[in-house]
Amino acid sequence: MSMFEDIPVDVGVIYEGERIRRKDMYVELGGPKQEAKFELVRVKGLDEVEDGKITVVGPDLKDVQEGGNIPFGIYIEVAGKDVEEELEGVIERRIHEYCNFIEGFMHLNQRYDIWLRVSKKSFQKGLNSFNYIGKVLMKLYKSELPFIEKIQVTFLTAPEKVRQIWEQAMKIYEARDAKARGMKDEEVDTFYGCTLCQSFAPSHVCVITPQRYSNCGSISWFDGRASARVDPKGPVFAIPKGELIDPEKGEYAGVNEVVKKKSLGAVNRVWLYTSFGYPHTSCGCFEGVAFYIPEVDGFGIVHRGFKEVTVNGLPFSTLADSTAGGRQVDGFHGISIEYMRSPKFLQVDGGWNRIVWLPASVKERVHEFMPKEVVDKIATENEAKSVEELQKFLEARGHPIVERWKAKPVEVVAEEKEEVPAVPVTGLAGVPITAGGFKIILKDAKIHARKVIIRAIKTEEKKKR
Ligand code: SF4
Repeated sequence: MSMFEDIPVDVGVIYEGERIRRKDMYVELGGPKQEAKFELVRVKGLDEVEDGKITVVGPDLKDVQEGGNIPFGIYIEVAGKDVEEELEGVIERRIHEYCNFIEGFMHLNQRYDIWLRVSKKSFQKGLNSFNYIGKVLMKLYKSELPFIEKIQVTFLTAPEKVRQIWEQAMKIYEARDAKARGMKDEEVDTFYGCTLCQSFAPSHVCVITPQRYSNCGSISWFDGRASARVDPKGPVFAIPKGELIDPEKGEYAGVNEVVKKKSLGAVNRVWLYTSFGYPHTSCGCFEGVAFYIPEVDGFGIVHRGFKEVTVNGLPFSTLADSTAGGRQVDGFHGISIEYMRSPKFLQVDGGWNRIVWLPASVKERVHEFMPKEVVDKIATENEAKSVEELQKFLEARGHPIVERWKAKPVEVVAEEKEEVPAVPVTGLAGVPITAGGFKIILKDAKIHARKVIIRAIKTEEKKKR
């Protein structure tokens, strides 16, 4: 008997990675059109949680107009004698994974960036209430994280209620992030790793240190430690640092060893504090991208919420595509907002002295952590909308990068790399192949290719004529 027999659609790992396009969606929850949206987990006392309770505040799925977009929040309260507050971040991160197990229900991003869609097909099959989503979440939490003894879930769609709890949630996220600030990577002997995103990026392993927050910005070193303690065989695990190979780049023998094992040999070395050489891999749910701008020999930064094109004419989505997939791409680096607050932020590349452009809203969030003398020398979309305008701005303000221009001609020095196995080009949970009248589904398949050639068939046909 299936654990989900009372759910009108299928639930399983095979649906992870399923994308719901606009034309196929019944309704969209949160996403770029909504400022206030959130998912939040809070640990409560055993007597404060009514196990199994699901509440919907505002219109339910069946009450929303087809094709609509609504404000959205998920608020989960958990309790258990072994559940400590430090677990909130990792329990919260599982919302992404569990929602994506539901057929025709897509969940992207995390915390204040969530973006969900229900497909028309699943809605027609009967997925027309948040109650079903709540039931799936509760069953998965209880079976996967047995230390959770009680759980209750509230879905919010009423705009004023979403905004009210979103404001509180933003303060809670900030308090969680602030906890590890001031700690140094050198002071601990264990880092933590996370492979939750391998369903989308099979070779990706997040290395979470006190001074390099996870890419998604939702799992801190403290969260990693708490999770590895209660669920050591889970997707968040301890990484003994091992021998320090290079303090400047942040290369550790223990990190290399674990990443090699967890990426199945796809990634052999990691330099934690740089975007060149052997940078930390980027999955797909990073909060922002640091992208190299060769014309000025500096980095731009763009975050997920930036709706315009960046200074090099490309939007976040295009830059994210160049970065994602669990690869190590020189000059394209997935990062969290919190990592920008770290003293080790891209330290090998010059840190903030190498950043030349970023959205004004990100600058606002992190400016206290930038060296004072450089804050006004970094352009935003208000000062530079093209690389030419950027060059002029940097010269006029005397950005430290200008000295680099004088010192040497602008060029990208490619690091010499050892031969590494081909990078997986697909890591879908289920890859369907139709052959000879049979449909074969490769579950959790990793397909490797040394080279991918995409050819326009029409052109080939024309040549033959
Ligand atoms: S971005 Fe990293 S830490 Fe966050 S869920 Fe993915 S693998 Fe885990």
